[in-house]
Amino acid sequence: MKDANFTNLANRWVCDLVPYTPGKPIEELERELGINQSIKLASNENPLGASPKAIEAAKEALSSVHLYPDANGFYLKEALSKQHGLPANCITLGNGSNELLVFLAQAFLNPSVGAVYSQYAFAVYPIVTQMMGAMHQEVSALPAEHPMGLGHDLRAMYAEINSNTRIVFIANPNNPTGTWLSSDRLKDFIGALPPHVICVLDEAYTEYSEEPSEASQWIEVYPNLVVTRTFSKAYGLASLRVGFALSHPNIAGLLNRIRPPFNVSGIGLAAALAALDDQSFIAESRRINQLGMDQLHKGLAGLGLATTPSQANFVLAHFPTSVDEINKRLMSDGVIVRPVKNYSLPNALRISVGTQEQNERLLAVLARSL
Ligand SMILES: *Cc1c(COP(=O)(O)O)cnc(C)c1O
Repeated sequence: MKDANFTNLANRWVCDLVPYTPGKPIEELERELGINQSIKLASNENPLGASPKAIEAAKEALSSVHLYPDANGFYLKEALSKQHGLPANCITLGNGSNELLVFLAQAFLNPSVGAVYSQYAFAVYPIVTQMMGAMHQEVSALPAEHPMGLGHDLRAMYAEINSNTRIVFIANPNNPTGTWLSSDRLKDFIGALPPHVICVLDEAYTEYSEEPSEASQWIEVYPNLVVTRTFSKAYGLASLRVGFALSHPNIAGLLNRIRPPFNVSGIGLAAALAALDDQSFIAESRRINQLGMDQLHKGLAGLGLATTPSQANFVLAHFPTSVDEINKRLMSDGVIVRPVKNYSLPNALRISVGTQEQNERLLAVLARSL
């Protein structure tokens, strides 16, 4: 390749961006180590796969791949509208909920305003903030000794809000910590926000929470609330990239101006619609996750490892020292988990809840390696 450098032409803040670190794909590990039968507990995917009805719908949609999909996602929006009791003009569909976070940043952030988010919050919030050259208003998380240690400190986040703040990102439950916020505290926080601040409430793991979230019902009362959801986690459709945002129609109208046409595929739309209709699959996923979570908590405690409380489908396990070595051991035994050094947690691993056998295998390798 010819010698060339374009960094001096690009936006300064783009050059400084650190790309998102994804979980290691199974094929990559197996290719690198020449092993097979690996398991991945690194990206909070559903170990049960997806609803068979969703797979069936996706297969059927394959016969129409030569046609552009419905750019308005009419049927999926109609079903979501019914589920949440909100008009369809409150819904924006995204290529995964990640894309909705990008739209929100593009709509509301620029170099003279900022976004508030917590330390240890989902890594995409600082990325989309920086993507727009906006100001980072990162707030210290609750201290480790707090019962919800590493979780969002809503009081401190509120104190950080100023006249330049445009977005507050909140993940409930949060990734990578698994920590959560009570409905009452959250509602008080949102209710107290000044009108120039938009609260983006990321509910990627809400299907796993103990209490069903009512946040979508708050939109009618608090017009500056945006709730994002995804079909990637409990619904098991991560590869199809379907997410949605619920908001005041005026915010949805802004996001729609940015949204590229046909951002969600016809296969994704069809599968998500069928998945939504199969709530028994979600109930079973919750049940298996609860069992696996208990199994992991007990097993990790048995190995003397502390864990952060979690209402999601993963658990953050804390080791006495850096996890570099233990992570190598796990990988050489075909177990992929997620180191969280990029979150400044070099002594912790985020472990997705797998099937009972997968969890057992992880615990056995850990027991041998410690
Ligand atoms: C996984 C995840 C998402 C986004 O997932 P998509 O596949 O883009 O829908 C959003 N927020 C959090 C906190 C997540 O962990």
